[in-house]
Amino acid sequence: MVIYPIFLPFSGCPSRCIYCNQSINTLEHPVEHEKILEEVKIRIGAFKEIVLKNKRPGEIAFYGGTFTALPLNFIEKIVELLHPLCLKGIFTGVRFSTRPDAVTNGVLEVLRGLPISMVELGVQTLNNRLLEILNRGYTTKTVEEAVKKIQALGWKVGLQLMVGIPDEDRKTFFETVELSIALSPNAVRLYPLIVFPNTILGKWYEEARFQPLSLKEAILRCAKALMMFEEAGVDVIRIGLQSNRALDNRSFLAGPYHPAFGYLTRVHWWRLVVNRELEKMEAQEGRVKIEIPERFLSECLGPKQINMRFWVRKWALRELSIGFFNEPATMFSKRVYIVRVNK
Ligand code: SF4
Repeated sequence: MVIYPIFLPFSGCPSRCIYCNQSINTLEHPVEHEKILEEVKIRIGAFKEIVLKNKRPGEIAFYGGTFTALPLNFIEKIVELLHPLCLKGIFTGVRFSTRPDAVTNGVLEVLRGLPISMVELGVQTLNNRLLEILNRGYTTKTVEEAVKKIQALGWKVGLQLMVGIPDEDRKTFFETVELSIALSPNAVRLYPLIVFPNTILGKWYEEARFQPLSLKEAILRCAKALMMFEEAGVDVIRIGLQSNRALDNRSFLAGPYHPAFGYLTRVHWWRLVVNRELEKMEAQEGRVKIEIPERFLSECLGPKQINMRFWVRKWALRELSIGFFNEPATMFSKRVYIVRVNK
């Protein structure tokens, strides 16, 4: 599916969260309040032309700020603009990210005029103490209520969660994962906390009051969270920040950024999943064949076959090979988790 994203950094945000620097995250600069509508019109118009030229309809997405906290008359105008384009099939749906405390009945009523495909809530954590540290300005109850309101409209809901919040440990992070699963979201994004300049978190880091997670620890936590979400049937649609020029040039102060963070996490996920199977079958000193869908080969092996070497060493295997099996057509659009291991 094609997504046509419109980034509106900080637009609608009631305050600045302690870690947020959208200019580095999105490479876009805030749009002046009076110019937001004009800017949205221009970008929708440009995407419309692209769709017509390439004959590739897709979804319009509003990211980078707090979409539903824009003034209601702005939202009404955006709905008026998008409604006919959605009816014509130029845009197949609309998705946006927003804060849980900005999901009001009034704005939902206005947005009901559009085919909303997903609402992504910037939740970050489901621990009240950590929400307070992040200065998010809402509680876990607000998140639960927002999720329920969105689900009551039949719209899909996505949760954006953070890993490595100040004062968070493994226990509190995995509690957030469990509480998130209990909310039955359709999708989740996992973001390791990165320290950006010109933020309160950046100041804490420079004063040695905060230390971000190491890359290894962030991957370990995300891989386990991935396992928990996928076993609960929740799609994990992104792990790690989208790489860009600024991030790749390390325009941040510290933190577990890696351009292939998602891939490395999935590599570790495979390590855990296969290892669990080897443990179950008591693979010690055995001859083992792992069968997987071919498209997961690179994730399963890991860079320089690191996973293969790990399993052989850990279980003193005499032989370890990889084979492929065909995925059932009905499951083709989803990841397949079956790992067959023969002794
Ligand atoms: S609400 Fe989101 S976009 Fe706005 S300041 Fe906080 S993290 Fe940044």
